[in-house]
Amino acid sequence: MNIYADNAATTKMSEAAVRAMTDCMQNCFGNPSSLYRIGQRAKERLEEARLAVADIIHAEPREIVFTSGGSEADNQALLSAAMIGKRKGKNHIISSAFEHHAILHTLKKLEKNGFEVTLLPVHENGIIRLAELEAAMREDTCLVTIMMANNEIGTIQPVGAIGELCRQKGILFHTDAVQAVGHLPIDVKAQNIDMLSASAHKFHGAKGVGFLYCRKGIALSNLIEGGAQERGKRAGTENLAGIAAMAAALKESVDGMDRNNAHQAAVRDYLIQGLSEIPHSALNGDAKQRLSGNVNFSFEGIEGESLLILLDQRGISASSGSACTSGALDPSHVLLSIGRIHDVAHGSLRLSIGEDITMEEADYIIRNVKEVVAYLRSFSPVWRDLVTGKKEFILQ
Ligand SMILES: *Cc1c(COP(=O)(O)O)cnc(C)c1O
Repeated sequence: MNIYADNAATTKMSEAAVRAMTDCMQNCFGNPSSLYRIGQRAKERLEEARLAVADIIHAEPREIVFTSGGSEADNQALLSAAMIGKRKGKNHIISSAFEHHAILHTLKKLEKNGFEVTLLPVHENGIIRLAELEAAMREDTCLVTIMMANNEIGTIQPVGAIGELCRQKGILFHTDAVQAVGHLPIDVKAQNIDMLSASAHKFHGAKGVGFLYCRKGIALSNLIEGGAQERGKRAGTENLAGIAAMAAALKESVDGMDRNNAHQAAVRDYLIQGLSEIPHSALNGDAKQRLSGNVNFSFEGIEGESLLILLDQRGISASSGSACTSGALDPSHVLLSIGRIHDVAHGSLRLSIGEDITMEEADYIIRNVKEVVAYLRSFSPVWRDLVTGKKEFILQ
């Protein structure tokens, strides 16, 4: 059996997206900035995609800037909001401890440039608390950036309530919605979102393309200078084939959203139930307030990397709770942020299932994770210390 369960890392392009992409490459190769018909046809195609993407999140076409993906959109949103704040003498930013590195590393850069950053805790359930957000807001706060759904543990943040609070206080609100777009309903107007980042390859589009929504009236700063593409906010000849494919993929994802979420949530809950039968294990993040495709578990006494490799040999592609930073395996900052200690965070597994997952595949995953965890524990020195009472179990 071959099961791809790493859709939070990237997804396979949909057939509709591949068709849109190849059609563009073959039949619409003009430069959208050229004035002759071949160029103008490309321009039309670009604007059709912009309209389609804007409609889906209840934005206006001119509020959409196409980018090279989620990281670029995050960088541009944060740096722009910081510039706006600076002009008004406001240099405080609020975010959360478990954001994607595209956010956290940009915040680090801003800190080096005189900004002050408050990272809200996300607690054991992986959700920020509104009262703590409100308490952190100051006269000089220029931006709140909180992700819509976490990429590792899938927890969904109360974005509408955050947006409302920010609007009341006159603070810009950006959300990294890379894991949410195409998977959750989004209405930037109703949710009071000022800026939002998205990436096509997380909803069956191509890699290397995404978009930034920026409410009209908010001045974006450029990351890339050059031509006047994207209303002068992002220079460079447009990745038309990628953009057309993104619009096709997004439309398809949104059309199937309710059905996909219902199916995935049923399989997710079945997986959670099956895996929680493993002794000394725990689900990471809230059980219900999470993406329908996300299952994230910690198993005491094992190494997540070994688990991954053995699961790969059994045809299961998944992800662990560690990241390779400068050659060393560091436990994920997300798992640490919800209070998992280093050892426990190391023994973690993320399964991000897709629309096509079957119950038979879920059974196969449960059986194999159980076997591999037991096998790894059978020769783990940490596990031996735990069962002999030399060390205390953390997970019951
Ligand atoms: C994948 C991801 C990103 C980065 O998007 P890219 O298009 O790969 O640059 C940013 N934020 C979150 C939450 C993600 O899951």
